[in-house]
Amino acid sequence: MKCPDCENGTVIGFFARMADGTTKPVVKLPCPCCQGTCQVPDEMPERRAAGKQLHELRLSRRLGLRQAAELLGMLPSDLCNLEHGRSGAPVEPIMEKIRALDLTH
Ligand SMILES: [Zn+2]
Repeated sequence: MKCPDCENGTVIGFFARMADGTTKPVVKLPCPCCQGTCQVPDEMPERRAAGKQLHELRLSRRLGLRQAAELLGMLPSDLCNLEHGRSGAPVEPIMEKIRALDLTH
């Protein structure tokens, strides 16, 4: 499917303020969602929804990204990718682990 985040594989990085007070996009970055290809897997919306649930579960347990990744034995970047739906890995087992974490000490 077409990337939901961008028009042509790029996203605006910075705006410059012109002398007449208007702003103009000056830096375009490759879209982080589709890596500039403007195509994402068809299951992307479901992945994103699952990633959002994971993100909210982590926040509800007051875990930082790094802290959670450490407790789960995974890289913070991998956890971040999961939360943003960029990873094809299943989210549910990770959520189970977060629910099972003993955070009382
Ligand atoms: Zn995109």
